Amino acid sequence: MKKLIAFALASILTLGLTACGGGASSTGSSAAASTAASASTAASAADSTDASATSGESATPTLDAIKEKGTFTLMTATGFPPFEYLGADGQPAGVDIDVGQLVADELGVEYEVLDMDFGLLIEALKSGKGDMIGAGMTVTDERAQQVDFTVTYATAGQVLLLPADSTITSAEELKSGDCTVTVQANTTGDIYVQDTLGISSPLQFKNAVECAAALAAGKADAAVIDSVAANTIVKNYEGELKVLDEMVTEENYALAIAKGQEDLVEFVNQVIEKNIENGTIDKLLEEHTALSSEG
Ligand code: GLN
Repeated sequence: MKKLIAFALASILTLGLTACGGGASSTGSSAAASTAASASTAASAADSTDASATSGESATPTLDAIKEKGTFTLMTATGFPPFEYLGADGQPAGVDIDVGQLVADELGVEYEVLDMDFGLLIEALKSGKGDMIGAGMTVTDERAQQVDFTVTYATAGQVLLLPADSTITSAEELKSGDCTVTVQANTTGDIYVQDTLGISSPLQFKNAVECAAALAAGKADAAVIDSVAANTIVKNYEGELKVLDEMVTEENYALAIAKGQEDLVEFVNQVIEKNIENGTIDKLLEEHTALSSEG
């Protein structure tokens, strides 16, 4: 029933569509992503009794503070199905949203979701607007200097989303000056296109859904976006768009937590590990892939 809606067609360049085939020079495609954060084994993150959170003496100061506050806040960026999208009720839904709920439930507190642009998430986390980022976020060295990552809960990579009749067969071909490439601003796809392919000014949108809409509207020759999102979104553009199989990067998704909150990282790691083992994460991926591409 639900159809992913694309808005924000802001000030888009109208480019006569050239074939954009051609260039075939090669460079190695070193992925922008780094390896995942190490899997720390969780200490006992069970109920902490002292909820005073007034001194640093408690072994679980962050968990104590969240319990005292009574709300666990997840920050996300919808437009990235099946990890986060707007549900039929207009509210954020998706794998990350449900994982955040699992954490809140384990903490025994209320749950709140803040939806914002992907590029604003890390600063928002650092300034304390929420407790955790759940946004299909790839672990990279640069991000790991600013936030702490939990264990990996999903893997993906960048792929090319193309018009169904495109003759492009590899990322290398995008280097041709004729090509207009669209990306999600500030994502690993954006970094790959700019740093690895050397395309200095890709057409940036704030999320994957908007990239796909621009592509379908003939504003670009290709989108470079995360595989899972591309494969989900393409279902809404049957006969219009296609995904190229080749994965040009290998990436690990993790949840992000502000520096200095090791107790929360350990607690969330336990929740993730438990829900990977019991199959919940796989089930959520399946469910939300179906739900977010319904229509
Ligand atoms: N995985 C990509 C990144 O971390 C894209 C995430 C997203 O668009 N939500 O940059």
